[in-house]
Amino acid sequence: MTPAISIQNLKKSYDDTVALKGINLTIGDGEFFGLLGPNGAGKTTTINILTGLVRKNEGSAEVFGKDTVSDYRFTRSQMGISAQEFTQDWFFPLDKLLFFQAGYYGIPKNEAKEKVDELLLRLGLEEKRSSRLRQLSGGMKRRFQIAKALVHDPKILILDEPTAGVDVELRHELWQYFSELHKAGKTILLTTHYIEEAEKLCDKVAIIDKGNVIKEGTPKELTGQLGHAGITINISDTDVDLNASLTDFTFTYAEGRLHFTVQDPEEALPIIINKLTQIGCHIQRVETTKSSLEDVFLSLTGKGINE
Ligand code: ADP
Repeated sequence: MTPAISIQNLKKSYDDTVALKGINLTIGDGEFFGLLGPNGAGKTTTINILTGLVRKNEGSAEVFGKDTVSDYRFTRSQMGISAQEFTQDWFFPLDKLLFFQAGYYGIPKNEAKEKVDELLLRLGLEEKRSSRLRQLSGGMKRRFQIAKALVHDPKILILDEPTAGVDVELRHELWQYFSELHKAGKTILLTTHYIEEAEKLCDKVAIIDKGNVIKEGTPKELTGQLGHAGITINISDTDVDLNASLTDFTFTYAEGRLHFTVQDPEEALPIIINKLTQIGCHIQRVETTKSSLEDVFLSLTGKGINE
C-alpha cells in the first residue's frame, strides 16, 4: 500500500545551521506517528518541507506517492496542519475564518457550513463563533487552530506541538479528540516533546535529534529494548535464601527491599511473586516502574528531552 508520507534522505540547511542531515521516514495510511525530539531537533523543518513552507536542499518528500514539490496542489490538498505558531487573522470572526479556509480548498458552501458548525461544536468553540481570535484564551486559539486544519477534511492531519502551553484538562480533551480522529481513519503526524503524549497516542515514533532520526519503532518496542524496567518488592522475611530461588533474575536486596531489573515486568511479575511465595516470603508491597520514552531518549542521547 502506498504510504501516506514518505521522506527520503531529506536535507536542509539555513545559512550555516544544518537543520536536517538526511532524514528517512515512512508513515503508513491511517497511522498515528510521533516525531519526538527536543527543541531545535528539526521537527518543524520536516513538517514545513512537507507542506511547502520551506524549500528542501536534497532528498524527497512524498504524500500518497506524489512529490510535494512537483505535485504540490495534490499533496497540499491531502494535508491539514495545525502549526505551532498561532494564526494572526485578527479581523474576522471564527466561523468566517473557517468558512474562508474551506473556500481555499474548494469546498462547496453548504458542505463548508456544515463542517464549520460541526467543528465549532466539537471543539467547544460554538459560543465563540462570532468572536475575533484576539478575544480568545490561549487554549481556545489552539482549538481554533485544530479546527482550521480539519475544515477541508484532509486525509492527513499534521499537529506541530498541539498541546504546548495548554493546561492539563485541555491537553487530555485534545488527546481524546485526536484518538477519535485516528480511530475514524485519519493519518496523524504529531510533533511533541511531551513523552507522555507520544506514548499515549502514537502507533509509532521516530526520535529525532540534531537533524537525524536516531531511533524508530512502536513506543513498546523502544521502551522494551531498554530492558531496565524495574520491579520493587518489600518483603518481611529476611532469613530465606533468595539467591537460590531467584537465579533467573537480576536483582538487588537490601533491608527488606528487593529490586529486580527486567525486560518485561508484566511477564516477570507473576513468576517472581510465585517464587517468593513458594519459599515462604511475606510480600508487603509491590511496585513496577516501566521504562519510558524519556529513558529511551536519555539512553540514546545522554541527555533529557527538555534539556
Ligand atoms: P524543532 O521543530 O525540532 O524545534 P526546527 O526545525 O524548528 O526544530 O529547527 C531546527 C534547526 O534549524 C534549529 O537549529 C533552528 O534554530 C534552525 N532553524 C529553523 N528555522 C530556521 C530559519 N528560518 N532560519 C535559520 N535557522 C532556522
